[in-house]
Amino acid sequence: MVGNRPQTWLDDVRANPYAEQLAQGFTRLRFAAPLEEQYRAYQLEHSFDLKRISLLAAILIWMAQTLLDLRLVDSPERDAMLVVRVAVSALLLVCGGLILCSRRTNLLVPLTLACILALGIGSAAVVALAHRIDPAYPEEGLLLVCMAGFFLAGLRLSEALACSVVVLVTYIGFELLFGAAVVRLLYVLLYLLFGILIGAVGCYQLEYKSREHFLSRRLLKVMADCDSLTGLHNRRSFRRQFDRVWRQGLREGQPLAMLLCDVDHFKAYNDCYGHQAGDDVLQRIGRLLEERARRPLDMAVRMGGEEFALLLYGSDADDAREAAEQVRGSLERLGIEHAQSSTAPVVTMSIGVACLNSNDTNVSLKELYARADQLLYEAKNSGRNRIAVSACGQPMLTETTI
Ligand code: GH3
Ligand code: MG
Ligand code: MG
Repeated sequence: MVGNRPQTWLDDVRANPYAEQLAQGFTRLRFAAPLEEQYRAYQLEHSFDLKRISLLAAILIWMAQTLLDLRLVDSPERDAMLVVRVAVSALLLVCGGLILCSRRTNLLVPLTLACILALGIGSAAVVALAHRIDPAYPEEGLLLVCMAGFFLAGLRLSEALACSVVVLVTYIGFELLFGAAVVRLLYVLLYLLFGILIGAVGCYQLEYKSREHFLSRRLLKVMADCDSLTGLHNRRSFRRQFDRVWRQGLREGQPLAMLLCDVDHFKAYNDCYGHQAGDDVLQRIGRLLEERARRPLDMAVRMGGEEFALLLYGSDADDAREAAEQVRGSLERLGIEHAQSSTAPVVTMSIGVACLNSNDTNVSLKELYARADQLLYEAKNSGRNRIAVSACGQPMLTETTI
């Protein structure tokens, strides 16, 4: 059974909205505001095929029942029953057509609700009319509609439950209107209520699992794309997103800059202050780079070990040099003591800066990285705690004060 059980495996996961929601639980089938919106979009997307198949099945079943009524019922009530059947068929065809044409719109839920309610209210009217002439006319169709709402229409529990209540109340209204025997009506209602209860419990379980699945999938994606120590993008995510960003740069005629940053004398730092202190330094550098990558297409990445990259969209060589100088300076200004560094008394980094402009159509990430790596090597060889910048493939060393 689902419940608010402790999710101990989440203890090691970096804070993110999906992990927080999983840890908090969601027994009321509701997430915090931005996640709830994401889940509903995800659920609409994933229930679309089910909706389509259920809709076709509902139209076919409804039409078959219409034909049966036409053949088996022979009384003045038959005309009224057929009017209801035709009206519901027309509504199903219109709403169904709109559902099939409007895959991603926010009309999907209202249209589905309209279909279920039309089927439910239509069934209630037909059954109540039929009971005037034949009390044995089956009312199980009402239960089928409620079950379809719970399990086949891709609705959330609250929506499906509301539909069932409306159908039940309408059915009572029609039966009383057409003078049904109260005792038999109570018997049928009890049976319908138990059916709805079973449907609601099943639907709760399904929605709970669907929400859990949504959170776990998103969490796995975050974990697969993030470096666990710093929370920055990892190399894998960088590779995947670089193409997208670069294609956008080519389309919009925007340059792109890559800053490859490597901490100076980091092995000596670890040896002197310990691995945990080294991790803390990497985390502080992660935060510093994250601050610089605030625009939507910028990226801060931990490439591995003590090597980081900053991808700056729309930055030419001058912008990138300025950004690199700021990053280098901010780390130096953090003033993290490094007694074993022959470069400075504090932790510093060297940065290679490679730039692409929109004429470099054939340059791959590998080449850009190789260019930045070459410049990083030059910055290291020139004394560390400095940056080296290339303008469109032309290496150009920039001296910086230590
Ligand atoms: P250079 O100035 O030439 O870059 O020298 P360096 O010592 O920084 O470079 P080197 O490649 O010799 O050493 C990198 C060190 O980074 C070695 C390793 O102990 C440390 N390192 C790599 N990953 C981690 C990590 O996740 N945590 C910690 N604390 N240290 C790491
Ligand atoms: Mg290093
Ligand atoms: Mg290194």
